[in-house]
Amino acid sequence: MAGEGSGKQGTGTRLVGAGRKPEWTGAAVNPPVWRASTYLYEDSAAQEADRLPNADGLFHYGARGGPTQWALADALTQLEPGAAGTMLYPTGLAAPVMALLSVLKSGDELLVADNSYDPTRSFATKALRDYGITTRFFDPLDVKGFAALIGDGSRAVLLESPGSLTMEVCDVPALAKAAKARGLAVLLDNTWAGPTGFQALRHGVDLSILALTKHVGGHSDVMMGSVTATAEYYPRLRRHSLMLGQQASPDDAALALRGLRTMGVRLERSTASGLVIAEWLQGRSEIAAVLCPLLPGSPGHELWRRDFTGGCGLLTVVMAGGDAAARDRLVDALALFGIGYSWGGFESLVLGVHPERDRSVMSWPKDAYAVRLWIGLEDPADLIADLTRGLAAWSAA
Ligand SMILES: *Cc1c(COP(=O)(O)O)cnc(C)c1O
Repeated sequence: MAGEGSGKQGTGTRLVGAGRKPEWTGAAVNPPVWRASTYLYEDSAAQEADRLPNADGLFHYGARGGPTQWALADALTQLEPGAAGTMLYPTGLAAPVMALLSVLKSGDELLVADNSYDPTRSFATKALRDYGITTRFFDPLDVKGFAALIGDGSRAVLLESPGSLTMEVCDVPALAKAAKARGLAVLLDNTWAGPTGFQALRHGVDLSILALTKHVGGHSDVMMGSVTATAEYYPRLRRHSLMLGQQASPDDAALALRGLRTMGVRLERSTASGLVIAEWLQGRSEIAAVLCPLLPGSPGHELWRRDFTGGCGLLTVVMAGGDAAARDRLVDALALFGIGYSWGGFESLVLGVHPERDRSVMSWPKDAYAVRLWIGLEDPADLIADLTRGLAAWSAA
């Protein structure tokens, strides 16, 4: 859906108002769930006249969505200053997949930050390889090294900041500048901060990717993804997405829209609690490192302060010694943190993670056992009491 991103109002105001058009909502506050595969024409002439405009927001066929999906896409476009439009996808993973397919063709080379979300890495090294597209991984903290890596066949770069699992913040404007100097498309998976925490397009990104499953959905009951793009890249993103049959359901779009309205307060709470817990964990002898850019003095904190306007309570802790069994005892001893994939919901989650399995050029100490925590909306004191129990289980040999 095309629209015009604007960033003049405050975050809360923009989250409440974004995408609310009377022609899509009627008198209701929220757009109804508008289920339709087929829209009927008055006559043959009307059907023929509709063939060519092929514009966003025209009733044509359900594969192009309807007012419920349009309202969500329009809201996401409005939340991203510099955006021309947004496409929706049925999972978060389909968003980087479609962004990449819209900018790459056989014979091209893709450069991928080594700390990218592992299913996206697999898509590049397995599926894109079969389409004749090669992938090289690079350390996103080494801007000079990245610039030197760009070759004549390089067409696009995929970034993620902070990186999945290890949380490094990279210098997006510097990397984007180096990439643009060689004509590369710049893609960023912005799921951690979201559009209110990091204005991707204003920092040199061409296509901003979100797993809406996380912060926007916010209640662990919907899967969806989006890509928001500049005027230069939106037309080809839309064309490829429609050609490849991508659309999200109106029911899911309504859930995501509902989540979006409260995303600001949820993220504020998760960020504040995340910082309290990160600081508490940092003071514990069982913990060797807390990977969390919100923490003053932590790697990436200065770049986060320079470029971001928000964050979230997703962090990784590295245990001070121990073994895999001890790490599992810690995870299993927690009562308020559920063991599960994903994050961004109202409830806290925990997961033993293995960054070494998904790295090609960045190093990860062989015996560093790590646990990822998603800090939800529970009271931080209760979460700390739970973690205290978990750390005691870790220590009990
Ligand atoms: C979860 C996630 C995705 C994929 O989202 P799904 O809805 O689970 O497919 C993509 N990128 C990042 C950074 C994620 O954390």
